[in-house]
Amino acid sequence: MNSTVDTASLKALDRAHHLHPFTDFHDYAHGDGRIFSRAEGVFIYDSDGNGMLDGMSGLWCCNLGYSQDRIKQAVFDQMQQLPYYNNFFNCSNQPAVELAAELTSVAPEGFDHVFFTNSGSEANDTNIRLVHRYYDLLGKPEKKLIISRKNAYHGSTVAAASLGGMQAMHEQAIGLNYVHHINQPHWFENAEPGEDEDSFGLRIARELEAKIDELGEARVAAFIAEPVQGAGGVIIPPDTYWPELQRICNERDILLIADEVICGFGRTGQWWGSQTYGMQPDLITFAKAVTNGYMPLGGVLVSNKMTDVLMASGGEFAHGLTYSGHPASCAAGLATLAILKEQNIVENAAEHLAPYFQDQLATLKDHPIVGQVRGRGCFAAIELVRDKESRERLAQDSGGAVFCRDTANNLGLMVRQTGNAMIMAPPLICEHSHIDYLMEKLTAALDATAQHYKVG
Ligand code: PMP
Repeated sequence: MNSTVDTASLKALDRAHHLHPFTDFHDYAHGDGRIFSRAEGVFIYDSDGNGMLDGMSGLWCCNLGYSQDRIKQAVFDQMQQLPYYNNFFNCSNQPAVELAAELTSVAPEGFDHVFFTNSGSEANDTNIRLVHRYYDLLGKPEKKLIISRKNAYHGSTVAAASLGGMQAMHEQAIGLNYVHHINQPHWFENAEPGEDEDSFGLRIARELEAKIDELGEARVAAFIAEPVQGAGGVIIPPDTYWPELQRICNERDILLIADEVICGFGRTGQWWGSQTYGMQPDLITFAKAVTNGYMPLGGVLVSNKMTDVLMASGGEFAHGLTYSGHPASCAAGLATLAILKEQNIVENAAEHLAPYFQDQLATLKDHPIVGQVRGRGCFAAIELVRDKESRERLAQDSGGAVFCRDTANNLGLMVRQTGNAMIMAPPLICEHSHIDYLMEKLTAALDATAQHYKVG
């Protein structure tokens, strides 16, 4: 931060001029915020000098933390060489070419092409365009409907918000009329009394089959889903869920889009959530961790099954963004992939960090306000309850989890709250000592929350 500007004036300037994403404009204009001014390793520091362990990897993107000089240098060097040129009209640039090739080398089998965007939202918009184009070229123009899930998050553009299933977003953004939603696989929240996880997983997966029948297979083009719903609350699907969905997709003439914006690049224990869950997608959305969050970049990995059709006949794909394949962003992506590969980050995190993280979190199951601990890889959620048996919540409107999050933040741990759950996605480079620190602060926040709500 510029040392000549004091925090109070900067906050006042922020309130006066800056409209923040996913924020109540009125409350923020009359409230207080936090300005981040620097970061190091896996710690972030605000302008008042408070340090926090970043248990969320930024917004699920800084999987390698904040001190990766190689990525910073790659961006700087690329800025010197060629700060911008576009990829329209048969033009290209070296980092975009090389990153496309590198991404296909780490992608699951059968993906040889990439379309670049700036964000996950735009990548999901691109998916809709690709799916519709694919079926048009196959002579099935009536196949336009897309099935998604309630409480999914696929981005904030109108099309991506429409694909998503968040009620608050649908209330403000008029959904596309060709997107339909089925239920999410959230056992803790939505299971019938006495229903075990496996039965619940099968029942919810079969809603896809019923929805395809209801809408007509001839009209349904694709099903889109995150391997694990992230922003919705780190909803770990029951083991029966994805195999059943995959069976349905295989038997029906519909495409599967895996939105890996959070799950990609090692979050669930393998490079792709699709691999962790045995999915065989036709399109993979990526963003966030592809540049370690340092530069905006997203895109779609397009399967050979689809490019065989999309590239077979002439005709322009009438879609593109000024910054598709931006050279500096792609340079950041190349450096990020090089670090991930050379340092075996994904494999090491799966072998050493994830088991420790999950084992430590599991010890919180007996805490009086913890109703469920769930996780996979370096991804986890803790449901807060007043009563473990009835699952009664601590307060209305997720107040208990908001209190717990604010307490954790003030104690030096950045975690997020979604609904009644605390959610976490620590950087993949964390050491065991960082997890010990996270546990200490989280436990203190849970204790304070239990005391505040007079539980236990
Ligand atoms: N898909 C998923 C699964 C996401 O989590 C997000 C962002 N949180 C997006 C898409 C949208 O990405 P962006 O914010 O880069 O547009």
